[in-house]
Amino acid sequence: MKLIRFGNPNEEKPGLILANGVSIDASGFGQDYDEKFLGGDGLQRLAAWAEANAAGAPVIEPGTRLGPCIARPSKIVCVGLNYADHAKESGLEPPKEPILFFKSTTSLVGPNDNLVIPKNSQKTDWEVELAVIIGKKASYVSEADAMSHVAGYALHNDYSEREFQLERGGQWVKGKSCDTFAPLGPFLATRDEIADPHNLKLWLKVNGVVRQNSTTAQMIFNVPQLVSYISQFMTLAPGDVISTGTPPGVGLGFKPPIFLKAGDVIELGIEGLGESKQHAVAWS
Ligand code: ZN
Repeated sequence: MKLIRFGNPNEEKPGLILANGVSIDASGFGQDYDEKFLGGDGLQRLAAWAEANAAGAPVIEPGTRLGPCIARPSKIVCVGLNYADHAKESGLEPPKEPILFFKSTTSLVGPNDNLVIPKNSQKTDWEVELAVIIGKKASYVSEADAMSHVAGYALHNDYSEREFQLERGGQWVKGKSCDTFAPLGPFLATRDEIADPHNLKLWLKVNGVVRQNSTTAQMIFNVPQLVSYISQFMTLAPGDVISTGTPPGVGLGFKPPIFLKAGDVIELGIEGLGESKQHAVAWS
């Protein structure tokens, strides 16, 4: 299944993209896509609802705003430097264990919402990433059991303010958490939709120029390793997002670096997980 949420910000309704590409309103199902939904066998119940009701459900007009494909989760856990080439362009050694950091959950927005360049930002940057959505509470899970805790996958742009991240002391969270820094979607693809999450092309363009173009095959730590690893330090709740790191080609890696400014257009995609597009606007 492909799950979407649509409508005005903070008033999103649940929807589905059917196999024929038509998007339907799943409000009749009666539950938003949140922790309670995912933790309570929501995907099975939704599939049964769709089987019986999809044909008669209202169609969502093309051009309707999409929200983040899941309701605000308990946390967004990010993995740093998880592509060997990206570590190299950042001038850093590939990590021996996954580097973890958080992104504020208030940074979450719809896939095609504007990117707001934060107040006083000079160094806003992009990062196309495969996001993993947790489907079942995970605490001290083994790698062998890890995938049974995954609900599915989504496209994510891990926007990053490099000065806030790297030059302002402390750790990375300051540069990762600004409003609009986590466009998620267009849709959550359930696990069965993606045959191999470790063999997906992913790309990002700025103003039509390809800046990132790689494959998840380049990840240092794979999805089951990450889920198992993170669950040794914290409980992953249904709906939690793990953003698995970005390939080379971020603005910081160019000489001289390239950073985003109001008016820029950022487009990105992952094979099987759709595309998104953000317009950069100034903070006001
Ligand atoms: Zn990232």
